[in-house]
Amino acid sequence: MFNPQENLTAFEDKVWLASPTMHGEELDYVKKAYETNWLSTVGENINELERLVCEKAGCGYAVALSSGTAALHLAVKLAGVKPGDKVFCSDMTFDATVNPVVYEGGVPVFIDTEYDTWNMDPAALEKAFALYPEVKAVVAAHLYGTPGKIDEIKDICDRHGAVIVEDAAESFGASYKGKQTGTFGAYNAISFNGNKIITGSSGGMFLTDDSEAANKVRKWSTQARENAPWYQHEELGYNYRMSNVIAGIVRGQMPHLEEHISAKKAIYERYRDGLKELPVSMNPFDADNSEPNFWLSCMIIDETAMCRQVRGECDVLYQPEHGKSCPTEILETIAKYNAEGRPIWKPMHMQPLYRMNGFVTREGDGRAKTNAYISGGSLGRDGMPLDVGMDIFHRGLCLPSDIKMTKEQQELIIELIRSCFD
Ligand SMILES: *Cc1c(COP(=O)(O)O)cnc(C)c1O
Repeated sequence: MFNPQENLTAFEDKVWLASPTMHGEELDYVKKAYETNWLSTVGENINELERLVCEKAGCGYAVALSSGTAALHLAVKLAGVKPGDKVFCSDMTFDATVNPVVYEGGVPVFIDTEYDTWNMDPAALEKAFALYPEVKAVVAAHLYGTPGKIDEIKDICDRHGAVIVEDAAESFGASYKGKQTGTFGAYNAISFNGNKIITGSSGGMFLTDDSEAANKVRKWSTQARENAPWYQHEELGYNYRMSNVIAGIVRGQMPHLEEHISAKKAIYERYRDGLKELPVSMNPFDADNSEPNFWLSCMIIDETAMCRQVRGECDVLYQPEHGKSCPTEILETIAKYNAEGRPIWKPMHMQPLYRMNGFVTREGDGRAKTNAYISGGSLGRDGMPLDVGMDIFHRGLCLPSDIKMTKEQQELIIELIRSCFD
């Protein structure tokens, strides 16, 4: 039998999780900015990029910023978050979803994840409003480019008079019931960080249909200068505007967004088909209502096919077992062959930074629990009910999803994953 672990030599060029893919136009726009000395936070690239993103997303206004995090920060400000205010946040996400709440002095309360799309669980959100009826803002992310149950989330928020901040940093180009993510919230963010579906090396954008909000973001992001002959300031400002050079790169990427999505989708489908015989499944999505951008392909191992894996705060051990595997074994195996995967984003309620914050699950005793069992990590299966985020983190992993990965490289990665279950 072909044993890939014996016969395969490591990939000469590293196969990345998700890295920038340039096409050529990017350099033309950057060059034009350079040659005309438009090397600041104003210029044609910025204007044109904002127009293109509005057109693609179908939103009224887009403001180009230095990062997705900056967009989220200003969105949280607009949502009216004040020191001490609790804010409901996605739990299984990158911490940039949540940190801006803390920048404003808010207190994130984490909402557990559902198994259908790996995003905020509407049932847990409903429960959270019963526990904290005073909450007026919700930050919801679409993980790995898969739209969450945003209609249900929106319906719950509307009933409770809460504003949605949508974190579409990973999901630009993904849609739900024909509407682009990044347009469901009152204030929304996308990102052009180096690992995202399209990139400017860095950068982000604030999206809204509210012209007043867009104007505020324009003002705040350029140090909140008042209309006066001198530097006049009535409000606190930020240096958050996008550079015209970065905008040139993203502008050149825009015509390739759909092509990137198709390539990501093909990668997802090849993994899905190639891993079919194994006791695993792919990161799920609502095929009837949503069209993900397939930014990252992920898999989750069936409970019964997990070997023992013990994660501490910063390290991990596992015990290989015939017919079984675990994320650590798979990640270590593909890493040996120079392919980069990654664990699922570790849920916020398991992070030392946020361990004292509230965490609301769909099941449970009706009280928001602080997670006393986090330090045991995935040790604690016995007796202690695992929450959904912790469970997906325990059994799931992100697979190499770079669109420059060849079909042959991906097939070998699939073989390596298979060999982990031998
Ligand atoms: C990347 C990312 C962000 C932050 O975007 P930056 O442009 O890197 O600041 C926010 N939320 C999620 C879910 C992300 O993946």
